[in-house]
This record gives sequence, C-alpha cells and structure tokens, in this order.
Amino acid sequence: MPKIQLLPEHIANQIAAGEVVQRPASVVKELLENSIDAGSKNIKLIVKDGGKNLIQVVDDGSGMDETDARMAFERHATSKIRTTEDLFHIRTKGFRGEALASIAAVAHVELFTKPQDADLGTRIRIEGGKVVLQEPAQTAAGTSIAVKNLFFNVPARRKFLKSQQVEMRHIIDEFQRVALAYPEIGFSLIHNGKEVYKLYPENLFKRIGAIFGRKMHERLLPVGEKTDYVTIEGYTGKPEFAKLRRGEQFFFVNRRFIKSSYLHSAVMKAYEGLLPEQKIPPYFLFFEIEPEHIDINIHPTKTEIKFDDEATVYALLRASVRHALGKFDQMPSLDFDRDPSLDFSSLSQQRPKAVEPKIKVSRDFNPFKQSSPARIRADRKAVENYDDFLMPETAHPHTELISAASLPHDSTENPSAQNENSFQWNEKYIVTHTRSGLMIIHPYRAHQTVLFEQFLKQLQSGTVRSQNLMFPWEPDYLPGEVNLLEKYKEILQKSGIVFLREGDKIRFTAMPAGFETHHLRDFLEKLLADLSEGIPFDRQELLNRYLAVQLASASAVRAGTKLDETARQKLIASLFSLENPRYSPEGRKNFIILSENEIDNRFS
Ligand code: ADP
Ligand code: MG
Repeated sequence: MPKIQLLPEHIANQIAAGEVVQRPASVVKELLENSIDAGSKNIKLIVKDGGKNLIQVVDDGSGMDETDARMAFERHATSKIRTTEDLFHIRTKGFRGEALASIAAVAHVELFTKPQDADLGTRIRIEGGKVVLQEPAQTAAGTSIAVKNLFFNVPARRKFLKSQQVEMRHIIDEFQRVALAYPEIGFSLIHNGKEVYKLYPENLFKRIGAIFGRKMHERLLPVGEKTDYVTIEGYTGKPEFAKLRRGEQFFFVNRRFIKSSYLHSAVMKAYEGLLPEQKIPPYFLFFEIEPEHIDINIHPTKTEIKFDDEATVYALLRASVRHALGKFDQMPSLDFDRDPSLDFSSLSQQRPKAVEPKIKVSRDFNPFKQSSPARIRADRKAVENYDDFLMPETAHPHTELISAASLPHDSTENPSAQNENSFQWNEKYIVTHTRSGLMIIHPYRAHQTVLFEQFLKQLQSGTVRSQNLMFPWEPDYLPGEVNLLEKYKEILQKSGIVFLREGDKIRFTAMPAGFETHHLRDFLEKLLADLSEGIPFDRQELLNRYLAVQLASASAVRAGTKLDETARQKLIASLFSLENPRYSPEGRKNFIILSENEIDNRFS
C-alpha cells in the first residue's frame, strides 16, 4: 500500500498561509503593499481589536475588473511578473501572487473593487478559501478589502495571538514603515473608531515629523551619497539623541523596509566615539539600487535582503553617515548659538572701535524644553529641597559623595580639580573653567546623571530608602492600569513605591525619599504609558535602569533653580566623580566646553 498522498488543497493552502500570514500585522503589510502597487494616492487602514476581528484597507488605486477580482485570490496569481526575466527587475512590492490566496484561506474576506473607468464594480466574499458570493456591485473606483475573523479555522494560531495592544503595536510598526517609504501617498489609520494617524501627501522630512513628532526634526542630519552602484539618502540622528531603546531605525531598499544587522553595524561604526555606551541613534536611510543587484527572495516576508556587493554598500553607508556627522560637528554645537541675540559675529565689523559687547539675553529661551510648563512650575516650588536631593548622605545614605579633593587631578576636563570658581548664568547654566576651556554645565542633566547613578546602585542592591506618605494617595486609574501596576508591585516596592490594592482602587502609602507626590504622579504616568504600549520590562536590569532614569528625572533640579556656590561645587564634584560624566542617562550632553581656540576665533 503506498503511503504517500497529495494534501487536500485547503490544507495545502493553510500551510502556505502560515508562511505569509503570521499575525494581523502581516495582513496589514500585504494589503497596504497591494494598494501601493495599484498606484493609489490615498490609502485608509481600518482596524478593530488589534486586527483580530477586522483589518480593512480602502484605496483609490487601479481597481480590478470582474475576472481579475476573482483571479486575485488564486495561488500564484499575480499581475506583476510574467517571465523569469521579470524576476530580476521587480519594482513592485508584491510579485509572488500568494498574499490574497493565503489571507483568504484563513479568514473571512470581503472585496469591493472597480476599475477607474468602469460603471459597475464587483463584490466577492470568500470564507476559508471558498468563494461564497460574487456579484456586481455599486462601489467607488479603487479597491476595498476587509479581512475578518483572522485564523477562525486555525484555532491553534488564533489562540496564540497576543493581546490587542501587542498586535496593534505590530500593525503600527508595519504602517509606519510603509508610510515612511511612500511620503507622497496619503495614509490614515483608524483603530476601534479612533483616528491614530492622518498623514497627508508630503516629503520624507515632513512625513518623519508627522509620524514621530516634530521634535524629531531638530534631531536629524541629512545623508546623501550617490554612486553608479547605489544611492543612499535620508536622515540620521545627532549623537546626543541616541536612545537606549530601539525603534527609530529604518532601512529601505528600493522603498522596501528591510532589517539588516550588517548595515546597522555600518551605521554604528560611523558613530564610533560619538555615542554613549549602548545608545542607538535614530536613522531613516533609503537605498536605491538596480533590482538586478539585489535578492529579495531569501525570506518569505521579505524583510531581509542581499546585495551582490555587500562590502561596497557597507563602506558607502559608513562613509555617508560619517560625512553627515562630520559636517554637523563643524557647526556650533551650543544650543544658544541658535539664539540670534547672542550672535557676536556682527561685532567683528566694528573692529576699530573696541566696543564692549552688550549681551542681550532672551528671557523666553528655554533650554529645558523637555519639561512641561506645569512641571517646571511645580518644581520651582520644590527647589528648597534641592540640597536634600543633591546630598546623598542625607537623602540617600547608601552612597557616598566623593569630595572634590579626592578627585583625579590629571583630568583636563575636570573643573573641580582646577578651581573653586563658578557662577550660574540666568538661573540656568553653571559656568566654570577647566584646563581645556570654558565649561558650561546643564544643571538639570548633570544632576539627573548623578542621581541616576545613585538610584541605579540602590536599586541593584535593594537599598532604596522609602518615606511613608502622611496622606495616602488614591489616583483615579482605569482597571486595566491597576492590573498593570499590580503586576509590577514587587519590583516597585523594591524601588520604594508601596501601594495597597482594593478592587479597582489603588492606594499609595510610601514613595522614595526625596520624592514629592507630583514626582510620583509623573513617574507613574510615564510608566503606565510605556507599559500599556506593550513595552515589556521582563528583565530586572532593564527595569532598574528605567526606574533609575525616571526617579532621577523626577527629582533633578529644573531650570530656574538658583544654586549657591556650595550647591554648584557639590554638583560639579559629584558629576566628575562619575565614570562617564559626559552624557545624561538619556544620552544628552551634560556640559560643553568652549576651547580657547574657539573663543579666539570668535574675536578674530
Ligand atoms: P502579488 O501582490 O504578489 O501579485 P497578491 O496575492 O497580493 O499577489 O495579489 C494578487 C493580485 O491581485 C495582484 O497581482 C494584483 O493584480 C491584484 N490586486 C491585489 N490587491 C489589489 C488592489 N488593492 N488594487 C488592485 N489590484 C490588486
Ligand atoms: Mg501583494
């Protein structure tokens, strides 16, 4: 008796579907790409329940006639390649003719489509790969495909879908990638009836801002390199905006998002010596290359790619990013250099008359923009406690403040090794001198860095000191948020945050020493926002770092805090006792140094 049999077609289709459709986000990717291939100008994505119950894409592209509409769901049916030769010149996103067949095999699909010049369109319903309805229909030109009840006939897969939030995070990732690659197309994303994104046709720079917030604009440097083999274009982050967390790194090859640790290492190589440890800069880099030089067929979901000359791409990428950073480095790196009222250059024209320059200071200029106004107001009140925050021996008895006298004397940057003179300018920056030049210290970041190191040590050794709240605090949290916090109860307790839970109510009874209630509120708000975005903190070490950053950020001194000579010296001494005083835990500069040369040049 022969044992080998052909698989029934619906099982073969389900198996094949498993390759293309891993989760709701894979459906989103395929449908968006089809709409792009169809030449759409506007694409709308509608999602319900993280895509588990509905994923719908509506476009205004070419549409399909009746025959094509039916053919589109056949396996290996594609309008995009006809000959083997075509395979080497692919410019479209899709080409395997597998996506719609795979999706239809594991979901309920409803299609409405009409070519631009037709009077009547077509409606097709398919369930688990079987056509259950096909009829002429009144519909707008273009295509609408609704995918419902994904994996309804593959219970094992449906069961393994993650929470709505996590699946939605994946969908948003796919949406962002496609929207970044096609800024000239308008996109919108609606989740459970709420508009998440509304993106108008625009250029890449604006699109990046529309997706990641306009603050991203000032963080980026343009990259551009053109050779016969490949063109590299896009933006890369200024070193100080690198982050510990990944998520803002994008490579596109011929407008297809790809992942590549090889190319990533080329970028990181370009940043060598410019980044604090473990930090990753944001980048949005686009490669244009003749399709015959790449192989996009090595991965079923096509996020990996091979160039026929990898070494050249690596070298060019590294050089072009380095070039972008180099250009930037020659520019003034001082924030307030951008303030025209501080521009001395006009004075050079009046050289014969040695006029004493009058420095006009812009009162509105606020280098601490990252803090919300409400927070700054609150902190102006809280600053009487400044000394407590700064002096670990009172507030945090487990760490020692190293005295200025014990500091190494050979450091050319260490001001506490040089002198005891400093002043605070405009209730903001601390100015002092060092052997390598005039040093301007950002007090908030410096303090944040010092506190971060202390909190981190305390968290690691489980010795965070806690203070009881005189009046327990009962915030209004949603039941979901209360559950989230409950999950982190023990870890939070280790960091001095203690609460009791009664049903949907939560009552805080203790917080870290040095905290005020508004610090606690801000901290929890940030924590909950991150947790509900699905950012996992399963590694204790990561959570410790995170908590330490939050604790430090909440208690560091804000702009507008007057620091007396003792406080200034303490801050400087503590900062320069750290192994890496240069960068804040968020990877931003703690101080800058104006060398004598730079100052001389200003007067030339
Ligand atoms: P592929 O994209 O690899 O060709 P798909 O299964 O994704 O395979 O789609 C099959 C075919 O259906 C496409 O080649 C295209 O002709 C047609 N099609 C799919 N989606 C659309 C759409 N939104 N607008 C117009 N035609 C479409
Ligand atoms: Mg396709």
